[in-house]
Amino acid sequence: MHIDAFPHPDIHKILLDEQALGDRIRALGAQITRDYSQRRLLVVGVLKGSLIFMSDLLRALGSEVDVMVDFMAVASYAGTASTGTIRVLLDLRENPEGRDVLVVEDIVDTGLTLTSLTETLRARRPGSLEVCTLLDKPDCRKTPFKPKYVGFQIPNEFVVGFGLDYDERYRQLPYVGVLKPLQARTH
Ligand code: 5GP
Repeated sequence: MHIDAFPHPDIHKILLDEQALGDRIRALGAQITRDYSQRRLLVVGVLKGSLIFMSDLLRALGSEVDVMVDFMAVASYAGTASTGTIRVLLDLRENPEGRDVLVVEDIVDTGLTLTSLTETLRARRPGSLEVCTLLDKPDCRKTPFKPKYVGFQIPNEFVVGFGLDYDERYRQLPYVGVLKPLQARTH
């Protein structure tokens, strides 16, 4: 197996490397395991951005938690992103009513997506509902949304890798990095 020793040519700088991501995700897993010990937990990944974080986080959860997994996919309504209204593209297969639900997201930016998503889920009357995000850009909020579990707070820069994309590219990168300006990229 060949793994590139250097960052992708379109990456300006690596913000979070594999070691930092792995250490933090293991710590988050330990914290969530303590908080939900001896309980059933429905972990809901928000596709597609959460896919790598979700798979690492799940493996960091201890056997004291009875874990079930489900997914949702959402999109902002075209042209009305600033209203924060979301369209559910893929819905849960599990019924969240009365369950402890943990939504796993890649990044919270304006907070509009998760405000809308958690409102949608809360209407289905889960027993509890919390959010775990790998990345948080607190300076970019348009609504006062505060996730309970945060991997890293990052500055207001557009990042890719570790599940996060630009135009569906770069999700496979094993680190979180800042993209070069468009004219300096290979794509
Ligand atoms: P919010 O509704 O909080 O503004 O945005 C959340 C969504 O915006 C994320 O799920 C993600 O799809 C996208 N997003 C926000 N900031 C970034 C970023 O720095 N990089 C990438 N790849 N996506 C981002």
